[in-house]
Amino acid sequence: MAKSNAPLNPRTTSFEFSGIPGALGITFGLPLVCVVLNQMIRPDYHITGFFSNFDVAELWNHIKPLKWYMTNRELWTYYLCWFGSLAILDVVLPGPVMEGVELRDGTKLRYKINGIALCSLLSSVLAVRWKLTGGQLPELQYLYEHQTDFCIIVVIFSFIMSVFLYMASFFPLTGENGTGTKERILSVSGNTGNVIYDWFIGRELNPRVGPLDLKMFCELRPGLLLWCLINISCLHHYYLETGKINNAILFVTLAQGFYVFDGVLNEEGVLTMMDITTDGFGYMLTFGDLALVPFTYTLQARYLTVSPITLTKGYLAFLTGIMALGYYIFHSANKQKSDFRHGKLPHLESMDTKRGTKLLCDGWWGMSQHMNYFGDWLISLSWCLATGFQTPLTYYYSLYFATLLFHRQQRDEHLCKIKYGDDWKRYEEKVPYKIIPYVY
Ligand code: NDP
Repeated sequence: MAKSNAPLNPRTTSFEFSGIPGALGITFGLPLVCVVLNQMIRPDYHITGFFSNFDVAELWNHIKPLKWYMTNRELWTYYLCWFGSLAILDVVLPGPVMEGVELRDGTKLRYKINGIALCSLLSSVLAVRWKLTGGQLPELQYLYEHQTDFCIIVVIFSFIMSVFLYMASFFPLTGENGTGTKERILSVSGNTGNVIYDWFIGRELNPRVGPLDLKMFCELRPGLLLWCLINISCLHHYYLETGKINNAILFVTLAQGFYVFDGVLNEEGVLTMMDITTDGFGYMLTFGDLALVPFTYTLQARYLTVSPITLTKGYLAFLTGIMALGYYIFHSANKQKSDFRHGKLPHLESMDTKRGTKLLCDGWWGMSQHMNYFGDWLISLSWCLATGFQTPLTYYYSLYFATLLFHRQQRDEHLCKIKYGDDWKRYEEKVPYKIIPYVY
């Protein structure tokens, strides 16, 4: 095991998100955005423009006091059963075991890759429930009816979970062979010593409960799968109400389902993502993974259930074309980097660096520093375009995602400058565009 004299957990000296004010703004602002967006798209509140009938007082009338949510046994039981069952399945379902990137103490964590087994099981459960309930699936309709309530419950859950994660990060782990103690590995960005900031970014890098890696689990299971389930509940609701299937909701449900399934198929790709390798597991990720994804990425399906539109065949083909182009760029760029890192593409031009890892300057990675982000964003645009042009509200996702990717590019650049030093400058000379070639 390679050991250097550098401290295992260096102090974080630079603050992201504008420091404490930014962390506090996101902590309280984004949950509010989630709830308001959910409330603005309801069967009894037909939105025609963005601000034209925006009535904050009316929206707020539907929100109950915090105590009601904190003490609602029914909602908590449903959500905890969902979270708990997925956690148990994550541990017990079979799948190949893969190693993550090397950590600062020279070790590598092992991860079970069993997303396909889990998705197959969940689809079978849904099919059996469909058969048993004669297609009524009351649990799915319960989810549809209580979306805003669940959204608030999950925000509270994320908050509580991140407090526990922060406190647990101060207790040493049991050492090797069950003897002595071992220092936890902290995130390079969440170890400032400031309680609020470290709790927000996440102090510990890879918190685990027994064999369950909490960050990887939350990144891929409860939120992503709930996103698909809420979409299905919208499609199902429309079918129960009208006896028909609407092609716009179907497009959104299938396209987003495909995106999630692709993530599950290529699950091991997450092991090298910034979220797993660099960010700690704090409120930023618990809230993002568990609440923001399922309760705002579902906005298109929700909107189309409340205000259905029918897409022409030509428009549907246009949307499928944008989605396919986006997916092609996103998927092949990510695969190219992964293949390159595994030594599979020696013919592509690359750069040696003092850090020891090469940087690819060819193919997708010669066009811009993050062509994968551009492809991902095109995918998001195809989903938003499926809602037509009655309100800009449903374009929230593309707008939010563009902001996230832009900010992510800047965070990655900052980290790469630290990781690669002068070599990064040489790389930037060879590949000057950040995301979109010739634009930015
Ligand atoms: P990247 O896949 O772009 O990975 C960046 C890292 O790759 C760098 O830190 C560096 O790490 C390495 N790298 C950068 N340039 C090169 C190069 N030229 N050659 C070789 N290695 C290089 O970013 P992310 O991890 O942020 O994103 C992964 C995917 O996830 C993207 O497609 C993104 O769109 C998607 N995503 C989706 C989200 C969603 O909500 N739907 C949210 C966030 C991301 P090192 O050198 O240490 O290997």
